[in-house]
This record gives sequence, structure tokens and C-alpha cells, in this order.
Amino acid sequence: MNKWNNFLYGLVLLLLTACGGTSDPAISGNAAVDLSKTFKWKMVTTWPANFPIFQEGAERFAEDVRVMSNGRLDIHVYAGGELVPALQVFDAVSNGVVEMGHGSPYYWAGKVPEAQFFSSVPFGMTAKGMNAWLYNAGGLELWNEIYKPFNLIAMPMGNTGVQMGGWFNKQINSMEDIRGLRMRIPGLGGKVFKKAGGNPVLMAGSEIYTALERGTLDATEWVGPFHDMRLGLNRAAKYYYYPGWHEPGTVFELMINNSKWSLLPKDLQKIVETAAAANSEWIYAQMEYHNQEALKELRTKQNVQIIEFPKEVLSEFKRLAKETLDEEAVANPKFKQVYEAYETFRTSYEGWDELSEESYQAGLRLK
Ligand code: CA
Repeated sequence: MNKWNNFLYGLVLLLLTACGGTSDPAISGNAAVDLSKTFKWKMVTTWPANFPIFQEGAERFAEDVRVMSNGRLDIHVYAGGELVPALQVFDAVSNGVVEMGHGSPYYWAGKVPEAQFFSSVPFGMTAKGMNAWLYNAGGLELWNEIYKPFNLIAMPMGNTGVQMGGWFNKQINSMEDIRGLRMRIPGLGGKVFKKAGGNPVLMAGSEIYTALERGTLDATEWVGPFHDMRLGLNRAAKYYYYPGWHEPGTVFELMINNSKWSLLPKDLQKIVETAAAANSEWIYAQMEYHNQEALKELRTKQNVQIIEFPKEVLSEFKRLAKETLDEEAVANPKFKQVYEAYETFRTSYEGWDELSEESYQAGLRLK
């Protein structure tokens, strides 16, 4: 065949394929999917083995996917340190050493500082606002744009709800009491605490109890009543402060290597997305349930005083939180870009949140 014939032959083939309709996934659905092909994937998490709710949620997700896909997508879940250290989950998924990871975006603040907005920032949005932003107001698209250079895609899979302010071995009556205080408080919260004159300490969860009990630490934040009691923190300090201004609703992420993701048939991708959303809700509901149960138990314990931060202290933390975020934005254009998108939605949502939930809650408490 000469060149012209070659071209015509190609054109005819192209037309035949297009008219046949078999190449269009929107029309053919799953007709072309090879149902005998199975995918064996690995997921690494940042949580300790058997860590309640968090690690459970990751394992529950894998089981849901296995059942819904009839075993075609089989995900083996490894806790932090079992296959890779907890803080190397991002790199392991990014490099394709494993296909999936479960953690929270602020763990990667050293590498991707702007990722912190997809977790939680001091005086930021609670779970409701985060869900509205991520799913409906461009938050998720922005998150994926930020992760794209790392060959990663992400989606929410869990929320802690509003955390507690932390355990203190002395009462906090004014900003004076923060000065020199050695507190385990990571991330942006730690930066705010430092501006307030405190001394933030970096420490892994496993070391907190002993440090607080021995007085190496004066205070610590962890999660909420349920996880804090599990760690025994109520036996190591007397004053339990609220609210958790530094983590008002920490989002967990399901991260997936993008090259591996693109190899999955559409139906399996949909199953992953659906199972992630379902377990996002499951984790959040578990947190709310177990925290209220644990709070009831804490209230009966003689040695624990549950106290609200003084207004003066909260308002100063809030001022310093804005200062911290503004300074980070000046130093980093990507941080600024995400900060602006986050703030645009947060201020837009504020009006409705105040008028609906806040007003209702205030009414509910009227005598
Ligand atoms: Ca925390």
C-alpha cells in the first residue's frame, strides 16, 4: 500500500471503531472490563497497629473494597512501621513502593506545607465546613493539584471532630501561665504556642504519658477523651482543657499512587471512592460516639478537672494563629494560594454556620 492508501485504511478503521461504540466507556459501561483480572495492592498507614478507629477505619475500607469488588481489588493494610515507618508513608505511595496510604496531610508539612489546610489549621473549619469545602467548593480539586507533582491523588477518609485543648499539670488563668510551659503540640498549633511564649515539644505518641507523668512535659495535646484515656493521660495530669483550638476537625486522607490508579478499571475506581466516603463518615461517627462515652467516664473521675480555656487566652491564641498563617503565606506562594482559597470558603460559610447550627445550639441551651 502507498501512503495515501495507508491513510484511507486508517481512516476507515477509525470510523468503524467510532461507529461500533465499543470504545466509548460511557456507552459500553463495563463490557470491556476483564472481570478475571485481580489487583493485589498494599496500603500503609501512619497509625500504630490496632490503633482504635483510625487503623480500624483503614482496615474496614480495605474489607469493603474486597467485598464490593468481589475480590478483584484486594488491599493488604500495614500499620505504621510494619512495612515502612509512619512518616515515610507519603514517599512510599508517591514512589509507587506501595499503591495506597492512610494518614493526615499535615504529617507532610515539612515537604508540602500547604497540605496542612487539608488536615486542620488553628481556628479553622470543623468537619462540616471541611466537607462542604472539599467536596463542593473546589477544596478537593486544589488538594489534588497540590499532590499532582508527587504522582499522588488524595481523597478524605475520616475526621477526628473537634479535638480537646489538652492536659495541663497546672491551671491556665491568663497568658502569663503559658509562658515557658513545655507542651507537646505539633505543627501550626505548636508555632502559635511558641509565639504565645510557650515551649512546644515534638514527641511521638508513645512517649507522651511517661514524659507528662515524670514532669518532662508540663502539658500535652493528643486527640479527644476516648484516645486520651486510652493513653492514660487522665492519670498523668489533672487539668483537661477545651476546646482544641489548634485542631478543630482533622481530616484523614486516602492517598493513592496516580500511575497505579490509572491502571484500575472505572468500576474499581468508583468502588474505592465510594468505600473511602463511607469510611470517612464511619470514622467521624465513631469519634463522636466514643468521645461522648469517654467524657461521661472522665467526669466521674475525682482527679480530673475539665475546664474551658479563659476567653482572654483563646482570643490571644486566635490573634497569633492569624499572624502565624499570614507569615507562612508571605514565605511560600503555594501556601498563600491554598490559604486564600480556604479563607474564601471559610468566610463564605461562616454566615450560614452562625445562623443555622450556632444559633440553634444557643437556643437549645436556653432555660
Ligand atoms: Ca491532636
